[in-house]
Amino acid sequence: MSGIYIHIPFCKQACHYCNFHFSTSLRLKEKVVKAIILELQLQRDYLSQPPQTIYFGGGTPSILHINDLRNIFAAIHSNYDMQHVEEITIEVNPNDLNKSVLTEYRDLGFNRLSIGIQSFRDADLQFLNRAHSGEEALQCIHLSREVGFSNISIDLIYGIPNVTDIDWERNILHTIETEIPHISCYCLTVEEKTALKYMIETKKVPNVSEDQGAEQFALLMKTMQKHGYAHYEISNFCRPPYFSKHNTAYWQGKEYLGIGPAAHSFDGRVRQWNIANNLRYVHGIENKEIPCEKEFLTPTQQVNEYIMTSLRTMWGTDLQKIATLSGESGKENVMEKAQKFIHNETLIMENNTLFLSHHGRMIADYITLELFAE
Ligand code: SF4
Repeated sequence: MSGIYIHIPFCKQACHYCNFHFSTSLRLKEKVVKAIILELQLQRDYLSQPPQTIYFGGGTPSILHINDLRNIFAAIHSNYDMQHVEEITIEVNPNDLNKSVLTEYRDLGFNRLSIGIQSFRDADLQFLNRAHSGEEALQCIHLSREVGFSNISIDLIYGIPNVTDIDWERNILHTIETEIPHISCYCLTVEEKTALKYMIETKKVPNVSEDQGAEQFALLMKTMQKHGYAHYEISNFCRPPYFSKHNTAYWQGKEYLGIGPAAHSFDGRVRQWNIANNLRYVHGIENKEIPCEKEFLTPTQQVNEYIMTSLRTMWGTDLQKIATLSGESGKENVMEKAQKFIHNETLIMENNTLFLSHHGRMIADYITLELFAE
């Protein structure tokens, strides 16, 4: 199994919390699209297996004109074996969509939408500097269904200052009422060089609270479980069978090719990431060079990478895979470190696999770091 990720590095406006790679100037849009098309050709031999998933992320892919997407699709079709592709996702922002755009997406071959809603409350959306309203978010869901999309995911953010647990629960229940089959939820974090960080430092807005984030995560888990959603990754919930195939493959350590500025690729042993600068990316690709850095993972790093991604999922960390990557001693080492968490019931050991318990999910990052091989 393998996947292709395509990074579209443009957004209409900068959300206050975001430190992803994007530009709000569309000056280089045409050149970046051309470079993406050329990179698809240059990297055609990167994957050892035909792709099963394709994911357009960003930035905001829905900022592209349908003709840009058509041209990118044409490049994918002419350079990759598409016979095994099961899932093609596009990340969209609600205010970019209308019925005809959604119909074009469907006809082009997209069969999954990931809608960046973040909240249905206008006050939260203004705080985050999102470009849409709660009403537009709802409209977008209805329109998507009308044109035939059933595999829809939405993103939500919790831990927003001044948002009470009751407000957050309403947001979750609102989402569940829409019968959305897949929900990704992230805790608001304060990243370097963001407007949010500046506003907190200058006391324009209150700081985010770890306790509030933890409480709202606990509330989220409880509510989603009650309504029949599988908590299949720490930040992801779905009504089976609507797992994200693309992200699941990533969490299971499968190979993927990243195309576009700042996109990451992984072949199981070497991680590489394209330069996070649109102009330099374009120049590199125009010269038929992939402007990227590479990191060759040692067996220890491969084990840690595997623990980091797999432990967060409901499929857990397979100790046999750790033995394959770093030998029996590597497996024993992880088992030894896991004992205290098994003892305090934050980890569960079953069928030679480690799983986070309900309580373990609350401290997933801490447990992961503690299990890391040195
Ligand atoms: S959160 Fe998404 S839409 Fe907002 S600035 Fe970041 S990439 Fe763009």
